[in-house]
Amino acid sequence: MSSFHFSERVRALGGAAERDCREAGLFSRADEVCSERSEQVLAAFRCERVSSGDFAEVTGYGYSDGGREKLERIYAAIFGAQDALVRLSFLSGTHALTVALRALLRPGDTLLAISGAPYDTLQAVIGTSGGSGASLLARGVRYEQIELSGDSFDLPTIFARVARGDVRVAHIQRSRGYSARGGLCIDKIARAIAAVKDACPETIVLVDNCYGEFVERREPTMVGADVAVGSLLKNPGGGMASTGGYCAGRADLIAEIAEWLTAPSIGRDLGANFGQLSSLYKGIFLAPSVVAAALKTAIFAARALSLAGFRGVSPRFDEPRTDIVQTVDLGSADALVAFCGGLQSGSPIDSFARPEPGEMPGYEDLEVMAGGSFIGGSTIELSADGPLKPPYTAYLQGGLTFDYGKLGVLSAIEAMQEKGYISL
Ligand SMILES: *Cc1c(COP(=O)(O)O)cnc(C)c1O
Repeated sequence: MSSFHFSERVRALGGAAERDCREAGLFSRADEVCSERSEQVLAAFRCERVSSGDFAEVTGYGYSDGGREKLERIYAAIFGAQDALVRLSFLSGTHALTVALRALLRPGDTLLAISGAPYDTLQAVIGTSGGSGASLLARGVRYEQIELSGDSFDLPTIFARVARGDVRVAHIQRSRGYSARGGLCIDKIARAIAAVKDACPETIVLVDNCYGEFVERREPTMVGADVAVGSLLKNPGGGMASTGGYCAGRADLIAEIAEWLTAPSIGRDLGANFGQLSSLYKGIFLAPSVVAAALKTAIFAARALSLAGFRGVSPRFDEPRTDIVQTVDLGSADALVAFCGGLQSGSPIDSFARPEPGEMPGYEDLEVMAGGSFIGGSTIELSADGPLKPPYTAYLQGGLTFDYGKLGVLSAIEAMQEKGYISL
């Protein structure tokens, strides 16, 4: 029985794409990382002796919530960090990054982005767009940026700038964000951190780890990053967390970040859990598998879209990956909207809805977004979005299981075929 009404050609394309991915050993590679990371996660749960009592709802101020503190120690262990802050009160990845940057940068300090322009929503946080009086620049923080050299860090320039001794925070973004560059793998990040620390050991290295968690065997905090920051609506939430973010890293810095999240002297000691701890525990427990499913979905999409004739597919299906983002250039605004519409139709929630371009807080261009997800805006669930500007790139990510991911991708390809943007 086939209730999905894919055309024969789209089914055949899907079959060929999946075969190519398996034959190239790409799925087994993702499974190997998943096994290794799952072992780490389970070891952390055992070491902390997690029991069902740790999931108890704590309301009010949330003093002495042992379950919340244990979860934070588990994150620290999984990230190879001294400490971690895992909070529902981080509203998003942008918010967690904002709190961390505000905590670590004082007026007169310099923030140096060493992987080029940070993610769109951070432009307003830094103050390079938007003109908010609450931005870092408005508070008197200095900002400088070093571009990537090709797909790697410009190590000599980074070393020379940091060696002047006045850079308080060096910022690295692991994933591509809404840019044409590739992700920066842990080996490259390790070399960049070494260059910063050689030039000035006091400079704090902060990594925007969004979309990167569990993709590789190691995390930035295992290769010398002082702080890694991310969203629970992405990889480490495992599709279970209904909100939240995390910071993992050096204990003294995590303590400072906690004071800026809450209040001086309160720091990490407060915070009701609203009965959400069991989803956060379940999320980090499932995260290695869910990230592997999202990676397979991305690899499959890359192959299927290339076979369908798209040339601007990045990364290529067999290129190494450090994040779960897949992009494809679709060439026109209509094609981008059709692609997102097709993906939406292959989603479990709101499959009948058609995404339309609109304005998004924190983004400069009109955006179109497909996200038929259980949790609003969750992008570890299958989702696609893109700014309406040339080359009309769709940013595709997520997939709670590979089978559902594949159905979503094939629905997008079917829509492109029906509307005449491709001919199979
Ligand atoms: C998603 C993302 C962010 C922001 O996270 P939100 O939860 O969307 O605010 C920041 N940086 C990168 C690289 C991201 O992918």
